[in-house]
Formats: sequence, structure tokens, C-alpha cells
Amino acid sequence: MIIGLIDVDGHAKKKKWGATIYPNIALGKIARWHRNHGDTVEWYNPLRTERPYDIVYMSKIFNFSPDYGYIISNARNVIKGGTGYDIKSVLPKEIDRCQPDYSIYRNIPKDYAYGFLTRGCPNKCRWCVVPRKEGRIVPYMDVDEIAIEGRTKLVLMDNNILAAGDYAKQQVQKIIERGYRVDFNQALDARLVTDEWAQLLAKVKWLDKNRIRFGCDTHKQIEYCERAMEMIIGYGFHGEFFLYTMLNDDMNECYDRIQYWWQRLQDARKNHTGNWVYAFAQPYRDPDNPHRPIPQWQKDMAAWVNKRAHFVAHSFEEFEPRKGFKCIEYFNCK
Ligand code: SF4
Repeated sequence: MIIGLIDVDGHAKKKKWGATIYPNIALGKIARWHRNHGDTVEWYNPLRTERPYDIVYMSKIFNFSPDYGYIISNARNVIKGGTGYDIKSVLPKEIDRCQPDYSIYRNIPKDYAYGFLTRGCPNKCRWCVVPRKEGRIVPYMDVDEIAIEGRTKLVLMDNNILAAGDYAKQQVQKIIERGYRVDFNQALDARLVTDEWAQLLAKVKWLDKNRIRFGCDTHKQIEYCERAMEMIIGYGFHGEFFLYTMLNDDMNECYDRIQYWWQRLQDARKNHTGNWVYAFAQPYRDPDNPHRPIPQWQKDMAAWVNKRAHFVAHSFEEFEPRKGFKCIEYFNCK
């Protein structure tokens, strides 16, 4: 069979930004499974005419990104999947158990692998589709299954690994013993960092500037993040921290929460003390109304926080996202 693949989000991103940041894991697994069964797999080519595709797979992760905007006329069968099309959509089990065929991706270094140790999450944050899509947290794959082909730099996309109890500890212990370098790129839950976890996390080799990510989506979580960071640093961690901060409808609460981290960074830089702590702001997307416009203040706050040169150099009030507009005006008009 001839198989075509379309990364719908990547296609949209390439049109907009010229690059795909994360690989579409589902398409990699589909590629592996079909190649294992003797099929020819390629990125979809609308100009293929000599023999039509037997199946074209379209994968869409985000429900707010645009759909593929062209008619597919050279395929016998088109299969659409991913949360962007249907929150309940899952791969058939025999495909899901495969590792991605990394040869299909153009920009993945040869020592990187991507995967999940767990699926699901016990929490129910209102902005998040994970509990609805994946349910409670369960073990999914062993880290050695992910580290194929000698790949030792692992991007692990678990949504809440620390909530997976003894299974998670065994996996992180194995990561330490094997010397894998990892990034839990969906962040850790600081509330779950115990003394035992802090010791383990301080021993892990972290990817990307030796960086640990936490979520800080509410003001209350500031103290949990501080506590977790202090414990991990206490066990010898010397890297930086990266805090995802969800922007909600309350501008003042978001400002106060991010301002806390901004001031902390300014103090650390001035006094040359401590581990760097950077925030990353995510505008709120309503999972049930993904096309709801993002308020301008959220876009501006994210533009300030997420561009380190801005976040380091000046306050939100001083930030000038557009000629003639400084963000202090958000407060003046109250
Ligand atoms: S803790 Fe993270 S994964 Fe779990 S529901 Fe909240 S945002 Fe989603």
C-alpha cells in the first residue's frame, strides 16, 4: 500500500512560522506500523498522480488551529484523527504500542526520542482536555521502550508524572541509572514534590540548559513552586527552572502571579544569586470554545513573558508591544 501523512498543525505552523516545533508522534507511529507491514510511507504529496494513495492519514492535535485547507483528490481513503478533530480519538492499540519512525521527521536530532511514560491525570483543571480525553493516570510505557536506536535525549510528554506514585519513581530511578537526559516538557506538579522526589529530581540529567519545568497556574501554586525548587536545589541541582503560567480571565491575578516571578528574576540577576527562574505565559483557550478570541492583554502579557529579552529587560508596564502603546495603559484605564 502507499500511505500519505499530513501533519495538519505542522502544515498550518509552517505556513505561519516556517517551522514545526514538535513532531507529530501519532503520525510517526503510523509510519512505523505501516513500514513494518511492507507499505510505502511518505508525507502527503498533492501532486502524486502515477498511483493514488491507498490511505492518507490527517492528524490534528489542536482544536484551535486551522484545518487542512485543500481537497485530497488522489487518495482512496482519508483517515482523520487527533484531539483537534475529536477529543476521544485514539490510535488502534497495535499502532499506539509502536515507537515513532523517526526517519520521517526532518528536524529531529538523531539522539532525541519522544514519548509518554504515563497517560492521564487525576486532576481536573477547567482549561485542560487531558482528564476528559485520557481519564485517570495510568502507566503507559517503560522509558527503555522509548529510548530506541541509541537515543538518550528523551522528551517525555507526561501530563502529571509525579502523580503516578511508585511506578513514576521506578521510571525516574531508571532514567537516572541509564544516564538518559530528559525533559518532562508538560511540566511537573510542584505540590507533589516530596523530600524523596526532590532527591530523585536533583539526580536526573535534564535537557535544555539543565531545566526543570513546573506549572504555576494559580497564585497559591507560587509557594508550592518555591518550596519544590528550594528542596531540589538543596539536593544539589544547579540548573534553571521554567514555570508554565496559564493566563485566566482575571488580568490582575495573572499580573500579580507573573510579577512575582519577574521580581524574583530581577533580584537574582542583580545579586548574582540563586538559580534562574523563567516564566512562560499561555493565553487561556476554552476547550469547549477554542475559537473564542484571546483578549489583547493576554497576547501582550504572553509576548512580554515569553520573549526573554523583554522579560529580562523591563517590566510589563514598560513593555511596548505596539508603537505608541505601553502596557501600563491596561492599569491606567481601570
Ligand atoms: S494538572 Fe495538568 S494535566 Fe492535569 S488537569 Fe491540570 S493542567 Fe491538565
